[in-house]
Amino acid sequence: MNVVIIQTFDKMNYVIQCGYCRGGGRKPRKVQNWQIVEYTGETCDVCNGKGALRVQVNDFLIPDGKCQGTGLYKPTDTSPVLKCETCGGVGARSLSGELKIVR
Ligand SMILES: [Zn+2]
Ligand SMILES: [Zn+2]
Repeated sequence: MNVVIIQTFDKMNYVIQCGYCRGGGRKPRKVQNWQIVEYTGETCDVCNGKGALRVQVNDFLIPDGKCQGTGLYKPTDTSPVLKCETCGGVGARSLSGELKIVR
């Protein structure tokens, strides 16, 4: 999985698709092969329902390795979908681990 870049301002500032909701703006309920197949009615709290995140990195923007850039974490097949703890659901991180969400 790659980070979906919506807009690049410069090599440190981007607008990316929210990993946790994959741009849907609502919390995912069901995931199959890391694709969201069902959403809840709740607003995604990673992007506040916008579906996109403006982020700033201090070196390179890369997909988070723990969640493979999805922002999702699913402990077992039957468990609910959680936010990846490493990236907080963003799906991306900086090469050195310094990623800031710009609000
Ligand atoms: Zn979101
Ligand atoms: Zn992650």
